[in-house]
Amino acid sequence: MMKIVQPRTLNLRKTLFVGLVILGLMVWSAIRKPAPPVNPMWQGSTMGTTYTIRIAHSPLGSKTLQQVQKAVENYLAAINDQMSTYLPSSEISRFNRSTETTPFPVSPDFARVVTFALQLSRDSDGAFDPTVTPLVNAWGFGSQAAGAEPAADQLEAALARVGYRYVTLTPDGALRKSRPDVQLDLSAVAKGYAVDGVAALLMQHGATNIFVEIGGECVAHGQNDRGHPWRIGIDRPAYGALPGENLEAVVELSHRAIATSGDYRNFRATEDGTVVNHIIDPRTGRPAQHQLASVSVLATNCLEADGIATALFVMGPDEGLAWATRRPDVEALFVVRTGDGFKELRTPGFKTSKLDENPAAD
Ligand code: AMP
Ligand code: MG
Repeated sequence: MMKIVQPRTLNLRKTLFVGLVILGLMVWSAIRKPAPPVNPMWQGSTMGTTYTIRIAHSPLGSKTLQQVQKAVENYLAAINDQMSTYLPSSEISRFNRSTETTPFPVSPDFARVVTFALQLSRDSDGAFDPTVTPLVNAWGFGSQAAGAEPAADQLEAALARVGYRYVTLTPDGALRKSRPDVQLDLSAVAKGYAVDGVAALLMQHGATNIFVEIGGECVAHGQNDRGHPWRIGIDRPAYGALPGENLEAVVELSHRAIATSGDYRNFRATEDGTVVNHIIDPRTGRPAQHQLASVSVLATNCLEADGIATALFVMGPDEGLAWATRRPDVEALFVVRTGDGFKELRTPGFKTSKLDENPAAD
């Protein structure tokens, strides 16, 4: 016998069913993980400055993204533990305190950065010199900053301890100083090295469209979230200007790095009105002094871009432009002070684009 279902009972069941489906959906959406961002961006601090990381069209799931963020933090902490002169327990601080001339074992990253720094010292005829520490301190910069202009005998004593040839690497990657009082300063290259390291980490996890910046030194691969090459702003180097306040130029960057050295952010005005800046010419023992306000360098990796920018700043616009022009893998933009503003000098391959859009948002 067929059971006749009354319309009222049918409606009740239907309502109950729909209600259960809605409840199920609510429970499911509450427990399921939030979708990972399509274009994640995050920032933090390291090496006495800040960093920014962007991934466009990210293929990373939420869990992988969290793992990448943790891996980046750990990596940057490890680099600091090796190369920060501001951490008394770091490898570099211990090397600097040591007066032994026997091999001093260091981590592979540290050894790699020193190898590059010594090579750049040779290539630049000593304009770049990672043993510049006593001079940096004597002029009031660095971890043991003094403050005032150093006396002549103090400068002479500091200069005597500076010389990249006093440091060598043993075949198994240990450091050796041939003078007991030699000290290293890798501030001119460590940020660039860390930028490359972070980019490699992101790519190992499957991200291909990435932008990494630490304290203004950047590398970019692939494209930004709008499918264009990443756009990087170069600051107009007015004394004390804030990052991004006024742009001198915009560069499109893909599979390349850019780094800038200048005298406009880390400087000290003296009583006679001259400006003392943190980049020292190791050949004279005095802060690099010329009309050059900043130099930006494009290179295949950020370690090179960072180190070469410092070296070119020491050389100045004339010697620096000639040096950069001879290097096929390097492009440079020099921003030079004139009486009433700035003028640009650049190697032929340093291309900039219009200042029409906001590159910080790109
Ligand atoms: P950067 O901002 O990359 O040009 O690096 C500048 C920092 O490198 C300074 O604050 C010093 O700690 C260090 N430094 C200064 N002069 C030199 C030099 N001639 N060669 C290598 N490192 C330097
Ligand atoms: Mg540098």
